[in-house]
Amino acid sequence: MITVRNYVGGRFVPAHSGQHMDDLCPADGTVIAQIPRSGARDVDEAAAAANEALKGPWANSTVEDRAQLLESIASAIEARLDEFAALESRDQGKPVSLARSVDIPRAIANFRFFAGAIRHDHTDFHPMAGALNYTLRRPVGVMGLITPWNLPLYLLTWKVAPALAMGNTIVAKPSELTPLTANALAEVFDQIGAPKGIFNLVHGLGAEAGDAIVSHPEIKGISFTGGTSTGALVAASAAPKFKKLSLELGGKNPTLIFADCDFDAAVEGAARAGFANQGEICLCGSRILVERSIHDRFLTALTQRVAAMKVGDPSAQDTQVGALVSADHRDKVESYIELGKQEGGTIECGGKRPELAEKLQDGYYLEPTVISGLTPSCRTATEEIFGPVVTVHPFDDEREAMAMANGVRYGLAASLWTTNLSRAHRLAEELESGMVWVNTWLLRDLRVPFGGMKDSGVGREGGRYSLEFFSESRNICIKL
Ligand code: NAD
Repeated sequence: MITVRNYVGGRFVPAHSGQHMDDLCPADGTVIAQIPRSGARDVDEAAAAANEALKGPWANSTVEDRAQLLESIASAIEARLDEFAALESRDQGKPVSLARSVDIPRAIANFRFFAGAIRHDHTDFHPMAGALNYTLRRPVGVMGLITPWNLPLYLLTWKVAPALAMGNTIVAKPSELTPLTANALAEVFDQIGAPKGIFNLVHGLGAEAGDAIVSHPEIKGISFTGGTSTGALVAASAAPKFKKLSLELGGKNPTLIFADCDFDAAVEGAARAGFANQGEICLCGSRILVERSIHDRFLTALTQRVAAMKVGDPSAQDTQVGALVSADHRDKVESYIELGKQEGGTIECGGKRPELAEKLQDGYYLEPTVISGLTPSCRTATEEIFGPVVTVHPFDDEREAMAMANGVRYGLAASLWTTNLSRAHRLAEELESGMVWVNTWLLRDLRVPFGGMKDSGVGREGGRYSLEFFSESRNICIKL
Protein backbone atom coordinates (compact mmCIF):
# COMPACT_ATOMS: atom_id res chain seq x y z
CA MET A 1 0.00 0.00 0.00
CA ILE A 2 1.43 3.35 -1.07
CA THR A 3 0.67 6.46 1.01
CA VAL A 4 0.72 9.44 -1.31
CA ARG A 5 1.26 12.99 -0.07
CA ASN A 6 1.18 16.36 -1.71
CA TYR A 7 4.50 17.88 -2.74
CA VAL A 8 4.58 21.54 -1.72
CA GLY A 9 7.63 23.80 -1.54
CA GLY A 10 9.93 20.79 -1.81
CA ARG A 11 8.31 18.83 1.04
CA PHE A 12 5.92 15.88 1.04
CA VAL A 13 2.95 16.93 3.19
CA PRO A 14 -0.53 15.59 4.01
CA ALA A 15 -3.68 17.49 3.05
CA HIS A 16 -5.14 19.89 5.62
CA SER A 17 -8.43 18.00 5.55
CA GLY A 18 -6.67 14.98 7.06
CA GLN A 19 -8.83 12.92 4.69
CA HIS A 20 -7.67 10.28 2.26
CA MET A 21 -9.19 8.60 -0.76
CA ASP A 22 -8.62 5.06 -1.95
CA ASP A 23 -6.79 4.54 -5.20
CA LEU A 24 -7.95 1.29 -6.80
CA CYS A 25 -6.10 -1.06 -9.12
CA PRO A 26 -8.28 -1.57 -12.24
CA ALA A 27 -6.80 -5.02 -12.83
CA ASP A 28 -8.30 -6.54 -9.70
CA GLY A 29 -10.19 -3.82 -7.79
CA THR A 30 -7.80 -3.84 -4.81
CA VAL A 31 -6.79 -0.66 -2.96
CA ILE A 32 -3.19 0.09 -3.91
CA ALA A 33 -2.74 3.57 -2.47
CA GLN A 34 -4.28 6.27 -0.37
CA ILE A 35 -4.17 9.78 -1.69
CA PRO A 36 -4.79 13.04 0.15
CA ARG A 37 -8.10 14.78 -0.38
CA SER A 38 -6.83 18.31 -0.83
CA GLY A 39 -8.78 21.54 -0.95
CA ALA A 40 -8.39 25.29 -1.23
CA ARG A 41 -5.95 25.60 1.70
CA ASP A 42 -3.57 23.07 0.19
CA VAL A 43 -3.74 24.82 -3.18
CA ASP A 44 -3.13 28.17 -1.44
CA GLU A 45 0.07 26.85 0.09
CA ALA A 46 1.19 25.29 -3.18
CA ALA A 47 0.52 28.56 -5.03
CA ALA A 48 2.44 30.49 -2.34
CA ALA A 49 5.39 28.09 -2.65
CA ALA A 50 5.30 28.40 -6.44
CA ASN A 51 5.19 32.21 -6.17
CA GLU A 52 8.06 32.24 -3.73
CA ALA A 53 10.12 30.08 -6.09
CA LEU A 54 9.41 32.51 -8.93
CA LYS A 55 11.15 35.24 -6.99
CA GLY A 56 14.14 33.10 -5.99
CA PRO A 57 17.21 31.98 -7.97
CA TRP A 58 14.85 30.33 -10.48
CA ALA A 59 14.07 33.84 -11.78
CA ASN A 60 17.69 34.21 -12.86
CA SER A 61 18.11 30.70 -14.20
CA THR A 62 19.59 30.57 -17.70
CA VAL A 63 18.29 28.58 -20.61
CA GLU A 64 21.17 26.17 -20.06
CA ASP A 65 20.31 25.77 -16.34
CA ARG A 66 16.73 24.87 -17.22
CA ALA A 67 17.69 22.59 -20.10
CA GLN A 68 20.05 20.69 -17.81
CA LEU A 69 17.36 20.40 -15.14
CA LEU A 70 14.95 18.89 -17.70
CA GLU A 71 17.62 16.46 -18.83
CA SER A 72 18.31 15.41 -15.23
CA ILE A 73 14.61 14.72 -14.72
CA ALA A 74 14.52 12.66 -17.93
CA SER A 75 17.54 10.60 -16.86
CA ALA A 76 16.13 10.01 -13.37
CA ILE A 77 12.86 8.70 -14.82
CA GLU A 78 14.78 6.58 -17.30
CA ALA A 79 16.77 5.01 -14.46
CA ARG A 80 13.42 3.90 -12.97
CA LEU A 81 11.73 3.02 -16.27
CA ASP A 82 10.49 -0.42 -15.23
CA GLU A 83 9.19 0.88 -11.91
CA PHE A 84 7.37 3.79 -13.57
CA ALA A 85 5.87 1.45 -16.20
CA ALA A 86 4.65 -1.00 -13.55
CA LEU A 87 3.13 1.85 -11.50
CA GLU A 88 1.34 3.31 -14.52
CA SER A 89 -0.04 -0.07 -15.51
CA ARG A 90 -1.23 -0.94 -11.99
CA ASP A 91 -2.84 2.45 -11.52
CA GLN A 92 -4.43 2.87 -14.95
CA GLY A 93 -5.13 -0.67 -16.14
CA LYS A 94 -3.13 -0.37 -19.37
CA PRO A 95 -0.89 -3.24 -20.49
CA VAL A 96 2.51 -2.89 -18.85
CA SER A 97 4.08 -3.49 -22.27
CA LEU A 98 2.35 -0.32 -23.51
CA ALA A 99 3.40 1.71 -20.48
CA ARG A 100 6.97 0.50 -20.96
CA SER A 101 7.13 1.08 -24.70
CA VAL A 102 4.99 4.23 -25.05
CA ASP A 103 3.88 6.10 -21.92
CA ILE A 104 7.10 6.29 -19.93
CA PRO A 105 9.51 6.65 -22.88
CA ARG A 106 7.31 9.46 -24.12
CA ALA A 107 7.40 11.17 -20.70
CA ILE A 108 11.20 10.98 -20.83
CA ALA A 109 11.16 12.29 -24.41
CA ASN A 110 8.98 15.23 -23.36
CA PHE A 111 11.69 16.48 -20.99
CA ARG A 112 14.53 15.87 -23.47
CA PHE A 113 12.58 17.44 -26.32
CA PHE A 114 11.86 20.70 -24.46
CA ALA A 115 15.44 20.85 -23.18
CA GLY A 116 16.49 20.86 -26.84
CA ALA A 117 13.68 23.17 -27.89
CA ILE A 118 14.71 26.02 -25.57
CA ARG A 119 18.37 25.67 -26.49
CA HIS A 120 17.44 26.20 -30.14
CA ASP A 121 14.63 28.70 -29.63
CA HIS A 122 14.66 32.22 -31.02
CA THR A 123 12.29 35.18 -30.91
CA ASP A 124 11.04 37.63 -33.52
CA PHE A 125 12.71 40.75 -34.81
CA HIS A 126 10.73 43.31 -36.84
CA PRO A 127 12.77 46.14 -38.33
CA MET A 128 10.72 49.15 -39.53
CA ALA A 129 11.52 52.56 -40.95
CA GLY A 130 13.43 54.39 -38.22
CA ALA A 131 12.92 51.78 -35.51
CA LEU A 132 13.60 48.21 -34.50
CA ASN A 133 11.23 45.85 -32.72
CA TYR A 134 12.24 42.72 -30.93
CA THR A 135 10.20 40.29 -28.89
CA LEU A 136 11.06 39.12 -25.41
CA ARG A 137 9.39 36.07 -23.98
CA ARG A 138 8.96 36.10 -20.23
CA PRO A 139 7.45 33.42 -17.98
CA VAL A 140 3.70 33.74 -17.34
CA GLY A 141 4.18 33.04 -13.61
CA VAL A 142 2.57 30.22 -11.64
CA MET A 143 0.88 27.78 -14.03
CA GLY A 144 -1.91 25.40 -13.02
CA LEU A 145 -1.69 22.03 -14.80
CA ILE A 146 -4.67 19.67 -14.63
CA THR A 147 -4.51 16.27 -16.29
CA PRO A 148 -6.71 13.21 -16.94
CA TRP A 149 -6.34 9.52 -16.17
CA ASN A 150 -5.76 7.96 -19.58
CA LEU A 151 -2.08 8.79 -20.20
CA PRO A 152 -1.18 10.04 -16.72
CA LEU A 153 2.57 10.70 -16.83
CA TYR A 154 2.75 11.24 -20.58
CA LEU A 155 0.23 14.11 -20.49
CA LEU A 156 1.45 15.64 -17.23
CA THR A 157 5.05 15.85 -18.45
CA TRP A 158 3.83 17.27 -21.78
CA LYS A 159 2.87 20.34 -19.73
CA VAL A 160 5.50 20.29 -16.94
CA ALA A 161 8.46 20.25 -19.34
CA PRO A 162 7.57 23.35 -21.43
CA ALA A 163 6.24 25.22 -18.37
CA LEU A 164 9.60 24.86 -16.62
CA ALA A 165 11.55 25.35 -19.84
CA MET A 166 10.07 28.85 -20.10
CA GLY A 167 10.84 29.64 -16.45
CA ASN A 168 7.39 29.28 -14.90
CA THR A 169 6.61 27.48 -11.68
CA ILE A 170 3.86 24.92 -11.32
CA VAL A 171 0.90 23.77 -9.26
CA ALA A 172 -0.24 20.48 -10.80
CA LYS A 173 -3.12 18.14 -10.09
CA PRO A 174 -3.22 14.69 -11.64
CA SER A 175 -6.45 12.73 -11.95
CA GLU A 176 -7.58 11.31 -8.62
CA LEU A 177 -7.91 7.95 -10.42
CA THR A 178 -4.25 7.75 -11.46
CA PRO A 179 -2.02 9.69 -9.04
CA LEU A 180 0.93 7.31 -8.73
CA THR A 181 3.32 8.28 -11.49
CA ALA A 182 2.76 11.98 -10.71
CA ASN A 183 3.79 11.14 -7.15
CA ALA A 184 6.85 9.31 -8.47
CA LEU A 185 7.66 12.38 -10.60
CA ALA A 186 7.60 14.50 -7.41
CA GLU A 187 10.04 11.99 -5.90
CA VAL A 188 12.30 12.56 -8.91
CA PHE A 189 12.23 16.35 -8.40
CA ASP A 190 13.12 15.75 -4.77
CA GLN A 191 15.84 13.21 -5.51
CA ILE A 192 17.69 15.37 -8.08
CA GLY A 193 17.50 18.42 -5.80
CA ALA A 194 15.40 20.57 -8.15
CA PRO A 195 14.86 24.12 -6.82
CA LYS A 196 12.18 23.95 -4.14
CA GLY A 197 8.75 25.21 -5.09
CA ILE A 198 9.14 25.10 -8.87
CA PHE A 199 7.00 21.96 -9.06
CA ASN A 200 4.17 21.54 -6.58
CA LEU A 201 1.75 18.65 -6.72
CA VAL A 202 -1.67 18.65 -5.08
CA HIS A 203 -3.84 15.54 -5.14
CA GLY A 204 -7.60 15.44 -4.85
CA LEU A 205 -10.94 15.74 -6.56
CA GLY A 206 -11.57 17.95 -9.56
CA ALA A 207 -14.41 19.87 -7.95
CA GLU A 208 -12.25 20.59 -4.89
CA ALA A 209 -8.50 20.77 -5.56
CA GLY A 210 -8.96 21.21 -9.33
CA ASP A 211 -11.44 24.05 -9.01
CA ALA A 212 -9.25 25.72 -6.36
CA ILE A 213 -6.36 25.75 -8.86
CA VAL A 214 -8.46 27.15 -11.70
CA SER A 215 -9.94 29.94 -9.57
CA HIS A 216 -6.79 30.82 -7.60
CA PRO A 217 -5.85 34.49 -8.11
CA GLU A 218 -2.10 33.81 -7.97
CA ILE A 219 -2.22 31.11 -10.65
CA LYS A 220 -1.89 33.01 -13.91
CA GLY A 221 -2.49 30.32 -16.49
CA ILE A 222 -4.23 26.98 -16.79
CA SER A 223 -3.34 24.12 -19.08
CA PHE A 224 -6.16 21.60 -18.83
CA THR A 225 -6.57 18.23 -20.50
CA GLY A 226 -9.79 16.36 -19.84
CA GLY A 227 -13.41 16.03 -20.85
CA THR A 228 -15.31 18.67 -22.82
CA SER A 229 -17.92 19.32 -20.11
CA THR A 230 -15.17 19.79 -17.48
CA GLY A 231 -13.36 22.06 -19.93
CA ALA A 232 -16.46 24.27 -20.09
CA LEU A 233 -16.44 24.61 -16.28
CA VAL A 234 -12.72 25.38 -16.28
CA ALA A 235 -13.16 28.02 -19.00
CA ALA A 236 -16.08 29.64 -17.16
CA SER A 237 -14.03 29.93 -13.99
CA ALA A 238 -10.75 31.07 -15.57
CA ALA A 239 -12.03 33.48 -18.25
CA PRO A 240 -13.24 36.34 -15.96
CA LYS A 241 -9.76 36.37 -14.38
CA PHE A 242 -8.19 36.64 -17.87
CA LYS A 243 -5.95 33.66 -17.27
CA LYS A 244 -4.01 32.16 -20.12
CA LEU A 245 -5.95 29.06 -20.98
CA SER A 246 -5.24 25.96 -23.00
CA LEU A 247 -7.97 23.33 -23.25
CA GLU A 248 -7.31 19.87 -24.70
CA LEU A 249 -10.70 18.16 -24.62
CA GLY A 250 -12.66 15.17 -25.90
CA GLY A 251 -12.95 13.62 -29.33
CA LYS A 252 -15.01 11.30 -31.49
CA ASN A 253 -12.52 10.78 -34.23
CA PRO A 254 -13.28 9.39 -37.69
CA THR A 255 -11.16 6.79 -39.44
CA LEU A 256 -11.95 7.07 -43.16
CA ILE A 257 -11.27 4.00 -45.28
CA PHE A 258 -11.41 4.35 -49.08
CA ALA A 259 -11.63 1.40 -51.46
CA ASP A 260 -8.22 2.26 -52.93
CA CYS A 261 -6.44 1.89 -49.56
CA ASP A 262 -3.80 -0.69 -48.72
CA PHE A 263 -6.43 -3.02 -47.28
CA ASP A 264 -4.34 -4.94 -44.73
CA ALA A 265 -2.61 -1.81 -43.47
CA ALA A 266 -5.98 -0.08 -43.11
CA VAL A 267 -7.48 -2.97 -41.11
CA GLU A 268 -4.44 -2.98 -38.84
CA GLY A 269 -4.45 0.80 -38.53
CA ALA A 270 -8.16 1.02 -37.75
CA ALA A 271 -7.85 -1.73 -35.13
CA ARG A 272 -4.93 0.00 -33.46
CA ALA A 273 -6.61 3.42 -33.62
CA GLY A 274 -9.79 1.98 -32.13
CA PHE A 275 -8.40 -0.10 -29.29
CA ALA A 276 -4.95 1.13 -28.21
CA ASN A 277 -4.98 1.74 -24.45
CA GLN A 278 -8.49 0.12 -24.31
CA GLY A 279 -9.78 2.91 -26.56
CA GLU A 280 -8.96 5.36 -23.78
CA ILE A 281 -6.97 7.84 -25.85
CA CYS A 282 -8.54 11.12 -26.90
CA LEU A 283 -7.19 10.48 -30.42
CA CYS A 284 -8.71 7.02 -30.79
CA GLY A 285 -10.62 6.49 -34.04
CA SER A 286 -13.97 5.31 -32.74
CA ARG A 287 -16.06 5.99 -35.88
CA ILE A 288 -14.87 3.92 -38.80
CA LEU A 289 -16.29 5.11 -42.13
CA VAL A 290 -15.77 2.67 -44.99
CA GLU A 291 -16.42 3.07 -48.72
CA ARG A 292 -19.40 0.85 -49.51
CA SER A 293 -17.67 -1.29 -52.15
CA ILE A 294 -15.29 -2.73 -49.51
CA HIS A 295 -17.48 -2.25 -46.42
CA ASP A 296 -18.52 -5.86 -45.85
CA ARG A 297 -15.06 -7.28 -46.50
CA PHE A 298 -13.51 -4.65 -44.25
CA LEU A 299 -16.01 -5.23 -41.45
CA THR A 300 -15.32 -8.97 -41.52
CA ALA A 301 -11.54 -8.49 -41.47
CA LEU A 302 -11.71 -5.87 -38.71
CA THR A 303 -14.00 -8.01 -36.60
CA GLN A 304 -11.68 -11.01 -36.93
CA ARG A 305 -8.69 -8.86 -36.00
CA VAL A 306 -10.42 -7.32 -32.96
CA ALA A 307 -11.95 -10.57 -31.71
CA ALA A 308 -8.44 -12.07 -31.65
CA MET A 309 -7.07 -9.34 -29.33
CA LYS A 310 -5.83 -10.70 -26.05
CA VAL A 311 -7.79 -9.12 -23.20
CA GLY A 312 -6.76 -9.52 -19.60
CA ASP A 313 -4.08 -9.06 -16.97
CA PRO A 314 -2.27 -5.76 -17.68
CA SER A 315 0.90 -7.16 -16.10
CA ALA A 316 1.13 -10.01 -18.63
CA GLN A 317 3.53 -9.17 -21.47
CA ASP A 318 1.22 -10.49 -24.21
CA THR A 319 -1.93 -8.59 -23.10
CA GLN A 320 -3.20 -6.22 -25.77
CA VAL A 321 -6.31 -4.86 -24.04
CA GLY A 322 -6.08 -4.32 -20.29
CA ALA A 323 -8.67 -3.14 -17.77
CA LEU A 324 -10.75 0.03 -18.01
CA VAL A 325 -9.74 2.68 -15.53
CA SER A 326 -12.63 2.32 -13.07
CA ALA A 327 -15.89 0.49 -12.40
CA ASP A 328 -17.82 3.71 -13.09
CA HIS A 329 -16.12 4.16 -16.42
CA ARG A 330 -16.82 0.56 -17.42
CA ASP A 331 -20.49 1.14 -16.48
CA LYS A 332 -20.52 4.18 -18.75
CA VAL A 333 -18.98 2.27 -21.66
CA GLU A 334 -21.40 -0.64 -21.15
CA SER A 335 -24.32 1.78 -21.14
CA TYR A 336 -23.23 2.93 -24.61
CA ILE A 337 -23.12 -0.67 -25.84
CA GLU A 338 -26.71 -1.08 -24.60
CA LEU A 339 -27.64 2.20 -26.26
CA GLY A 340 -26.04 0.97 -29.48
CA LYS A 341 -28.28 -2.11 -29.40
CA GLN A 342 -31.37 0.02 -28.72
CA GLU A 343 -30.43 2.28 -31.61
CA GLY A 344 -30.48 -0.74 -33.92
CA GLY A 345 -26.80 -1.70 -33.99
CA THR A 346 -25.42 -5.22 -34.44
CA ILE A 347 -22.65 -6.32 -32.06
CA GLU A 348 -20.11 -7.89 -34.43
CA CYS A 349 -17.76 -8.88 -31.61
CA GLY A 350 -17.31 -8.17 -27.90
CA GLY A 351 -20.10 -6.31 -26.13
CA LYS A 352 -19.61 -8.13 -22.85
CA ARG A 353 -17.19 -8.76 -19.99
CA PRO A 354 -14.54 -11.40 -20.75
CA GLU A 355 -14.19 -14.57 -18.72
CA LEU A 356 -10.90 -14.31 -16.92
CA ALA A 357 -8.94 -16.03 -14.16
CA GLU A 358 -10.25 -15.91 -10.59
CA LYS A 359 -7.72 -13.27 -9.46
CA LEU A 360 -9.02 -10.84 -12.11
CA GLN A 361 -12.71 -11.29 -11.28
CA ASP A 362 -13.00 -7.89 -9.60
CA GLY A 363 -11.15 -6.01 -12.36
CA TYR A 364 -12.86 -3.70 -14.83
CA TYR A 365 -12.53 -5.61 -18.09
CA LEU A 366 -14.56 -5.39 -21.25
CA GLU A 367 -14.16 -7.19 -24.55
CA PRO A 368 -13.21 -4.95 -27.48
CA THR A 369 -16.45 -4.26 -29.30
CA VAL A 370 -17.32 -3.58 -32.93
CA ILE A 371 -20.84 -2.33 -33.70
CA SER A 372 -22.29 -2.09 -37.22
CA GLY A 373 -25.63 -1.09 -38.69
CA LEU A 374 -26.07 2.22 -36.86
CA THR A 375 -27.05 5.47 -38.51
CA PRO A 376 -24.02 7.78 -38.38
CA SER A 377 -25.99 10.51 -36.61
CA CYS A 378 -27.18 8.36 -33.68
CA ARG A 379 -25.89 8.98 -30.15
CA THR A 380 -23.65 5.89 -30.05
CA ALA A 381 -21.92 7.07 -33.22
CA THR A 382 -21.54 10.73 -32.25
CA GLU A 383 -20.94 10.89 -28.47
CA GLU A 384 -17.54 10.21 -26.93
CA ILE A 385 -17.48 6.74 -25.34
CA PHE A 386 -13.74 6.69 -24.54
CA GLY A 387 -13.55 2.92 -24.29
CA PRO A 388 -12.98 -0.19 -26.44
CA VAL A 389 -15.97 0.38 -28.71
CA VAL A 390 -16.02 1.37 -32.38
CA THR A 391 -18.90 1.81 -34.78
CA VAL A 392 -18.54 1.04 -38.50
CA HIS A 393 -20.55 2.85 -41.21
CA PRO A 394 -20.61 2.61 -45.02
CA PHE A 395 -20.41 5.67 -47.28
CA ASP A 396 -20.95 6.03 -51.03
CA ASP A 397 -18.71 8.90 -52.04
CA GLU A 398 -16.36 11.58 -50.77
CA ARG A 399 -19.16 14.07 -50.13
CA GLU A 400 -21.02 11.64 -47.91
CA ALA A 401 -17.78 10.64 -46.15
CA MET A 402 -16.98 14.28 -45.36
CA ALA A 403 -20.51 14.99 -44.11
CA MET A 404 -20.28 11.99 -41.78
CA ALA A 405 -16.74 12.79 -40.62
CA ASN A 406 -17.56 16.42 -39.87
CA GLY A 407 -21.05 15.77 -38.52
CA VAL A 408 -20.11 15.74 -34.84
CA ARG A 409 -19.45 18.41 -32.23
CA TYR A 410 -15.81 17.32 -31.87
CA GLY A 411 -12.80 18.07 -34.06
CA LEU A 412 -9.69 16.55 -32.55
CA ALA A 413 -8.14 14.00 -34.90
CA ALA A 414 -8.91 12.01 -38.04
CA SER A 415 -7.16 9.33 -40.02
CA LEU A 416 -7.59 8.84 -43.71
CA TRP A 417 -6.66 5.65 -45.56
CA THR A 418 -6.25 6.01 -49.33
CA THR A 419 -3.54 5.63 -51.96
CA ASN A 420 -4.97 8.53 -53.97
CA LEU A 421 -2.61 11.39 -53.18
CA SER A 422 -4.78 14.22 -54.46
CA ARG A 423 -7.78 12.91 -52.52
CA ALA A 424 -5.64 12.72 -49.38
CA HIS A 425 -4.61 16.37 -49.71
CA ARG A 426 -8.10 17.55 -50.65
CA LEU A 427 -9.90 15.80 -47.81
CA ALA A 428 -7.22 16.49 -45.20
CA GLU A 429 -7.93 20.17 -45.80
CA GLU A 430 -11.69 19.71 -45.57
CA LEU A 431 -11.73 17.66 -42.38
CA GLU A 432 -12.77 19.73 -39.37
CA SER A 433 -10.01 18.37 -37.23
CA GLY A 434 -6.93 19.68 -35.42
CA MET A 435 -4.87 16.73 -36.66
CA VAL A 436 -5.18 14.51 -39.72
CA TRP A 437 -3.14 11.36 -40.29
CA VAL A 438 -2.94 9.85 -43.76
CA ASN A 439 -2.26 6.09 -43.91
CA THR A 440 -1.17 6.07 -40.29
CA TRP A 441 -2.38 6.94 -36.80
CA LEU A 442 -0.72 8.49 -33.75
CA LEU A 443 2.57 9.09 -35.51
CA ARG A 444 3.88 11.99 -33.45
CA ASP A 445 6.54 14.60 -34.02
CA LEU A 446 6.73 16.69 -30.85
CA ARG A 447 7.25 19.92 -32.83
CA VAL A 448 3.86 19.91 -34.55
CA PRO A 449 0.71 21.70 -33.27
CA PHE A 450 -1.34 19.36 -31.09
CA GLY A 451 -4.94 20.20 -30.23
CA GLY A 452 -8.49 20.25 -31.42
CA MET A 453 -11.12 22.50 -32.94
CA LYS A 454 -14.88 22.74 -32.26
CA ASP A 455 -15.71 21.18 -28.87
CA SER A 456 -12.33 19.40 -28.74
CA GLY A 457 -10.56 22.39 -27.30
CA VAL A 458 -8.95 25.78 -27.55
CA GLY A 459 -5.29 26.37 -28.33
CA ARG A 460 -2.40 24.18 -29.41
CA GLU A 461 0.45 22.56 -27.53
CA GLY A 462 3.67 21.03 -28.86
CA GLY A 463 7.01 22.54 -29.90
CA ARG A 464 6.94 26.31 -30.22
CA TYR A 465 3.16 26.31 -29.58
CA SER A 466 3.85 25.14 -26.03
CA LEU A 467 6.71 27.61 -25.62
CA GLU A 468 4.37 30.41 -26.71
CA PHE A 469 1.57 29.29 -24.41
CA PHE A 470 3.87 29.06 -21.41
CA SER A 471 5.28 32.57 -21.92
CA GLU A 472 4.20 36.17 -22.31
CA SER A 473 5.52 37.89 -25.43
CA ARG A 474 6.65 41.46 -24.90
CA ASN A 475 7.56 43.73 -27.79
CA ILE A 476 10.38 46.24 -27.36
CA CYS A 477 10.38 49.08 -29.91
CA ILE A 478 13.56 51.18 -30.18
CA LYS A 479 13.49 54.39 -32.19
CA LEU A 480 16.73 54.86 -34.05
P1 NAD B 1 -12.19 14.87 -16.56
O1 NAD B 1 -12.57 16.11 -17.29
O2 NAD B 1 -13.20 14.20 -15.74
O3 NAD B 1 -10.95 15.15 -15.58
C1 NAD B 1 -9.75 15.71 -16.03
C2 NAD B 1 -9.06 16.38 -14.86
O4 NAD B 1 -9.84 17.51 -14.46
C3 NAD B 1 -8.92 15.51 -13.61
O5 NAD B 1 -7.70 15.78 -12.98
C4 NAD B 1 -10.08 15.97 -12.75
O6 NAD B 1 -9.87 15.77 -11.37
C5 NAD B 1 -10.10 17.46 -13.07
N1 NAD B 1 -11.38 18.13 -12.83
C6 NAD B 1 -12.62 17.61 -12.81
N2 NAD B 1 -13.54 18.57 -12.54
C7 NAD B 1 -12.86 19.73 -12.41
C8 NAD B 1 -13.24 21.08 -12.13
N3 NAD B 1 -14.51 21.42 -11.94
N4 NAD B 1 -12.27 22.02 -12.08
C9 NAD B 1 -10.98 21.69 -12.29
N5 NAD B 1 -10.56 20.43 -12.54
C10 NAD B 1 -11.48 19.45 -12.60
O7 NAD B 1 -11.57 13.92 -17.67
P2 NAD B 1 -11.11 12.42 -17.48
O8 NAD B 1 -12.33 11.58 -17.33
O9 NAD B 1 -10.02 12.37 -16.45
O10 NAD B 1 -10.41 12.15 -18.89
C11 NAD B 1 -11.08 11.73 -20.02
C12 NAD B 1 -11.34 12.89 -20.96
O11 NAD B 1 -10.13 13.56 -21.27
C13 NAD B 1 -11.91 12.42 -22.28
O12 NAD B 1 -12.95 13.28 -22.66
C14 NAD B 1 -10.73 12.58 -23.23
O13 NAD B 1 -11.08 12.75 -24.58
C15 NAD B 1 -10.05 13.77 -22.68
N6 NAD B 1 -8.67 13.82 -23.11
C16 NAD B 1 -8.30 14.77 -24.02
C17 NAD B 1 -6.99 14.82 -24.48
C18 NAD B 1 -6.54 15.84 -25.48
O14 NAD B 1 -5.35 16.02 -25.64
N7 NAD B 1 -7.44 16.51 -26.18
C19 NAD B 1 -6.06 13.90 -23.99
C20 NAD B 1 -6.48 12.95 -23.06
C21 NAD B 1 -7.79 12.92 -22.62
